[in-house]
Amino acid sequence: MGNLLQNLLSDEDLAQNFAESKPSYNAQEALDEANRCLYCYDAPCIKACPTGIDIPSFIKKIASGNLKGSAKTIMEENPIGASCARVCPTEELCEGACVLNDSTKPIMIGDLQRFATDWSIKNEQVMFKVGKKNGKRIAIVGSGPAGLSAARELGRLGYEVTVFESKGEAGGLDTHGIVPFRLPKDISLWEVEQVESLGVEIRTNAEVGKDIFAADLVSDYDSVILTAGMSKVPMLGIDGEDLEGVYDAIDLVEETKNENYSTEFIGKRAAVIGAGNTAIDGATTSVRLGADNVKILYRRTEAEMSAYDFEYEFAKQDGVEFRWLIAPKRLIGDRNDHVKQIECVRMELKEAGSDGRMRPVEIEGSEFLMDVDIVIKAIGQTRHHQLIDEFGLEHHNGVVKVDNETYLTSQPKVYAAGDVVFEKGVGEAMAVSAAQQGKETAYAIHQQFKASELGNV
Ligand SMILES: Cc1cc2nc3c(=O)[nH]c(=O)nc-3n(C[C@H](O)[C@H](O)[C@H](O)COP(=O)(O)OP(=O)(O)OC[C@H]3O[C@@H](n4cnc5c(N)ncnc54)[C@H](O)[C@@H]3O)c2cc1C
Ligand code: SF4
Repeated sequence: MGNLLQNLLSDEDLAQNFAESKPSYNAQEALDEANRCLYCYDAPCIKACPTGIDIPSFIKKIASGNLKGSAKTIMEENPIGASCARVCPTEELCEGACVLNDSTKPIMIGDLQRFATDWSIKNEQVMFKVGKKNGKRIAIVGSGPAGLSAARELGRLGYEVTVFESKGEAGGLDTHGIVPFRLPKDISLWEVEQVESLGVEIRTNAEVGKDIFAADLVSDYDSVILTAGMSKVPMLGIDGEDLEGVYDAIDLVEETKNENYSTEFIGKRAAVIGAGNTAIDGATTSVRLGADNVKILYRRTEAEMSAYDFEYEFAKQDGVEFRWLIAPKRLIGDRNDHVKQIECVRMELKEAGSDGRMRPVEIEGSEFLMDVDIVIKAIGQTRHHQLIDEFGLEHHNGVVKVDNETYLTSQPKVYAAGDVVFEKGVGEAMAVSAAQQGKETAYAIHQQFKASELGNV
């Protein structure tokens, strides 16, 4: 079966499997959808957008044929508005708040946002102008949604901004971590170009802590913003993790973003450990790489899984199977040190722990073996402890502590925003929230400098 599929799935087929899956609106569809909007006064959709995009205004501009103005309205509030059009959980945000939910169906705000921003991308629009230089220099560590948004706003305000990015391309998880069939890489790279067009310097392959010292940034710049996000998937802490055929879900997705499609999955059985959005991405990526059977193993139940409902539905449509109340105990290899089985144990849920979630507990003697060819680890992300320590920042288990309004850390010149300040159980780690925090950090820095010029600090 494997060999047969291997012959059938060419490189082009694999590339096609990773092309953007959802079709975009054509002009008539966009117009029809825009014309359904009621242009509500005090529109609830605006309040539900973490970046506060003036949604009725951008929709009205689509209806009147002003696509440039529409895209500008979107990008004004959200520097990663083209990516967010594709990756935001709109059902839980703007579309979830649309008044039309009470009568018919909500306006498809995400699709309209995509239509307007795609027009800008195709027509090579440069959206914003650099501000008059004010002589202040800001260093930003990390070029994901938070770093890019802070950089853009600071560039517009006249700051000289340098972004340090450890990877070869900027854009953070939008470029490297969100599956290409939902967010193609060229979309986030366009957003990076928009920021660069404001004179922001983005130094790629520049890892702070290795290529540049944190202390040098603090001494050489007027302020530093830490927007390094989170790190790799944590170890499962069981035997066999170093076997061949065991993948980190984020690394796996990154490979496909770079158009490197492993042929190891074709016709094989893959098991994904975890049930958050990263696990879903690992599973749907495995399907597109040609896996014959993909199972998600989760130690709790459907009710506790953290993946968005639409992601869950998407995975089910892809044929992904879900196995609840199962945890891996060890991974077993063959004579070539390639994973061949998982020793699993059945779990039951006991009373909630301190985090308010039901606690999974092993059922004694319920161990069993599951045959697999590939295992994908997807149980969240670790934190940048070493980097945070280099800056000498107060943190809680790797979550940097900041002032809620200014994003100032425990060090007077260092701010932090995005996933690096995201605390589990406090909202969702979303690209749009990171973008908003990046903007707010930029404004807080500007306020601080303005106040010190006036002698108020
Ligand atoms: C698999 C996956 C799927 C997701 N899907 C969605 C989704 O569908 N919708 C959604 O809204 N959100 C999604 N998210 C969450 C979203 O991607 C993040 O919340 C968002 O990207 C956080 O932005 P950020 O700028 O804080 O960090 P990141 O996007 O992680 O960017 C941080 C950047 O800092 C760089 N960096 C790290 N350390 C250093 C260093 N020492 N020196 C220099 N640079 C450094 C990194 O290379 C990276 O480019 C997903 C996350 C994952 C992991
Ligand atoms: S709530 Fe719905 S109908 Fe009202 S302005 Fe927003 S998108 Fe339009």
